[in-house]
Amino acid sequence: MPELPEVEITARRLGAVLAGAEVESAMAPGMVALKTIDPPLSALVGRTVTGTRRYGKMPVVAFSETPSARTRSGAADGPLSLLVHLMSAGRLQAFDKRASLRDKASRVLIRLTDGRELRLREFGSKQRAWAKLLPDDEVSEDEMVATLGPEAWPAPPLPDLAAAVDEPRHLHPLLRDQRQIAGIGRQWVDEILWRAKLSPFKKGSELEQAEIEALYDALAALGEAIDHYEQVVGAEVPNKLPMPLQVHKREGEPCPRCGTTIEAVFFAEHQTNYCPAEQTGGRVLKDRRLSRLLK
Ligand SMILES: [Zn+2]
Repeated sequence: MPELPEVEITARRLGAVLAGAEVESAMAPGMVALKTIDPPLSALVGRTVTGTRRYGKMPVVAFSETPSARTRSGAADGPLSLLVHLMSAGRLQAFDKRASLRDKASRVLIRLTDGRELRLREFGSKQRAWAKLLPDDEVSEDEMVATLGPEAWPAPPLPDLAAAVDEPRHLHPLLRDQRQIAGIGRQWVDEILWRAKLSPFKKGSELEQAEIEALYDALAALGEAIDHYEQVVGAEVPNKLPMPLQVHKREGEPCPRCGTTIEAVFFAEHQTNYCPAEQTGGRVLKDRRLSRLLK
């Protein structure tokens, strides 16, 4: 499940290896993956990759204007960008060889004239990852981008962070709400709350100034993860990144800071892990119903 640090290293590595590459053809075998129809994917043919960037958990691959744009001035010839949402199981990767058309994981394929291929793939049976091909200057207006809260890394200034979390909701879903703060998902939220010594079930609007400062400091975990990936990830980003997680999915193991056994609360589709000694005043939260009684 790629979150801000994983998407950041993906964008950096793709930008480095793809810059200047020219598109030969493009297609979307995952019929529902491409959410835009105009311009069509074929509009990428002849353009070159100019760079990559990231909004929250969404990578963007930018393409040049068409070679003919200098002589014709239609808006359709201007720079285009592919905005991608990886959801929980998508990966955006460059490959030296082209995918077999039987590769059921392929959602969008962009073939390059040098023989390589940029591929949006998705593991598992669900088709949830998506891409939008947009004029580059319209990406920031796309509803998924325009509604994002401040980026979680680098951490927003304290007053902005305080405003972003000033909601009467539990911190665990609140920090994963991309409209409040962008880039955090189910894995890094556990790490950030553990670092800040905050209960996942504390409400954002109930945080004291010192707790907001602790949350601010804890967001550094995202930057440290990016630094870690810079050290261990080569030119090719693997399917499974070596995530430097200390508490997420570590129930039963000792807390790296105080030695208390890490606990878990299970939800339908995910789980949250925490150190009871340092985050919930010693209380072990058995399930969601019980957790509602404990603030
Ligand atoms: Zn602990």
